Amino acid sequence: MDIKKVHIVIPIVMAGIIGYLGTKIMDIKKVHIVIPIVMAGIIGYFGTEIMDIKKVHILIPIVMAGIIGYLGTKIMDIKEVHILIPIVMAGIIGYLGIPHISRPSSQPVRQVDLDETSLVISRMSYPQPFVDKPQRTDVLLMSPWLAPIMWEGTFNRDILNAQYRQKKFVVGVATFAVKKYVRFIEGFLGSANKFFLSGHRVNFYLFTDHPEKVPSMKLAPEKSLFIIPVQNYSRWQDISMNRMDIISNRIRTHWHYEVDYLYSMDIDVQMFEHIGVEIIDTLVGTISSWQYTKPRDSNSYERRPESRAAIPSGEGDFYYAASFYGGSVSEVYKLTTACFKGVTEDRANGIEAKWHEESHLNKYLLYHKPTRLLSPEYYWDEELPRPQIIRVKRLSSVRKDLEEVRS
Ligand code: UDP
Ligand code: MN
Repeated sequence: MDIKKVHIVIPIVMAGIIGYLGTKIMDIKKVHIVIPIVMAGIIGYFGTEIMDIKKVHILIPIVMAGIIGYLGTKIMDIKEVHILIPIVMAGIIGYLGIPHISRPSSQPVRQVDLDETSLVISRMSYPQPFVDKPQRTDVLLMSPWLAPIMWEGTFNRDILNAQYRQKKFVVGVATFAVKKYVRFIEGFLGSANKFFLSGHRVNFYLFTDHPEKVPSMKLAPEKSLFIIPVQNYSRWQDISMNRMDIISNRIRTHWHYEVDYLYSMDIDVQMFEHIGVEIIDTLVGTISSWQYTKPRDSNSYERRPESRAAIPSGEGDFYYAASFYGGSVSEVYKLTTACFKGVTEDRANGIEAKWHEESHLNKYLLYHKPTRLLSPEYYWDEELPRPQIIRVKRLSSVRKDLEEVRS
C-alpha cells in the first residue's frame, strides 16, 4: 500500500477513537496510556514490516503516549486536549515518517511510474536484421564492456531518429574560439548547423575572447547560438586545458538547467556527413584517428607516474581524442571536474601531462568506461590517408599552420 498516507491516516483514526472513548464512555486515565502505546506498536509494526523505517517511528509515539498519559492523569481535565494532542502527534509522526520513507537508508524503495505512457514509434519499412549476418565484419562493433562503437553501415538512422524525437532532449555543444581560432568559427558553425543532430534541438555555446568577431550566421530554427566571453591565456596549452574547468563551472551554474546532454568539440573542425543521435549516450568518447591500431604500450598515454594522468603500462583500452567527447550533463560534469583536478595537481607538482587535458581524459575514460564509443569517422585527421574501414569522414580537423595559429 501507499504507506505515506497510511502513516497519517492511522494515527488520525486512532486519535478519533481515543477522543471518542475519552469524552464519551469512561474515565480514561489508564486507557489513555494504553491506547497510544498499542497505537505506537501498530504504527511501528506496519512501518517496519513494509519498509525500512527508522526507530524514531516506534519511539516517538511511545514518548508521546507517556506525555499524554502524564498530562491526562496529573494535570487537568483533558477532554478536549485529548482529541487535540493525538492529532498533533499524528501530524508529527506523519511528517517525520515521510522523509524516512522517501529516502530510506538501507533498502531503497523504487518509485516506478506504472502509468507512464510507452514511447511507440510509427510503422516503418527497413531491411530485416539477421543474427547470422553481422552488419560489418571488418571493425570492432562492441567494446569488451559491451559499449557499442559507432561505424557507418551498422545502424539505421531513421529508427534512431524516430526513438529520439519523442524524448524532446536538448543537446549542448561547448566549443572555444580564443585568439586566432576565431577564424574557424564560420566553418564549424556552418557545417554543424547542417550536419550536427540535424532536425533536433541543439544549443551551441561558443566561448571566445573576441565576441565582436563572431560572424552573424543564420542557423536552423531548432539550433541556437550563445556567445560567452572568456579570457585568453598566453599558452595555447592553457587555453586547451582550461576548457575542462570552464565547462565544469558552466554546467554547475547554467547547463545543468538548460540541456540534457553536452558535447565538447574543438572549433578547428568541419563536418562533412551527418553526426546524428547515434552519438547520444551517458558517457561518450571518440577513438582517435591517429592511434586506433596502435598497441597500448606504444600510443600516447601519459606513463610517468608523477603525473595525475598516468596510466600504468599494460593498461589502456583505446586512445580517446579530447577534441570530441560528451554525454549526459551529470557525467560530463564529473569528467571535466575530475580531469581539471588532475591538471591543477600536476601544475602544483610542476609537471604537465604529455598531451595536456587529453592525457587526463584518457585516464578518466580508462577507469570510467564510456557507455558508447565513436569510431574515428567522428574525428578524422585530415593529414592521414583514409583506410578502407573509414567509409565516411563525418568530421575532420581543418589543416592549420600550428606555429602561426597558436602564436
Ligand atoms: N583553442 C583556442 N585558441 C587557441 C588554442 C586552442 O581557441 O589559441 C581551442 C580551440 O577550440 C581548439 C582547442 O582549443 O580547437 C584545442 O586546440 P587545438 O585544436 O590547437 O589542438 P589539436 O586539435 O591541434 O590537438
Ligand atoms: Mn583541434
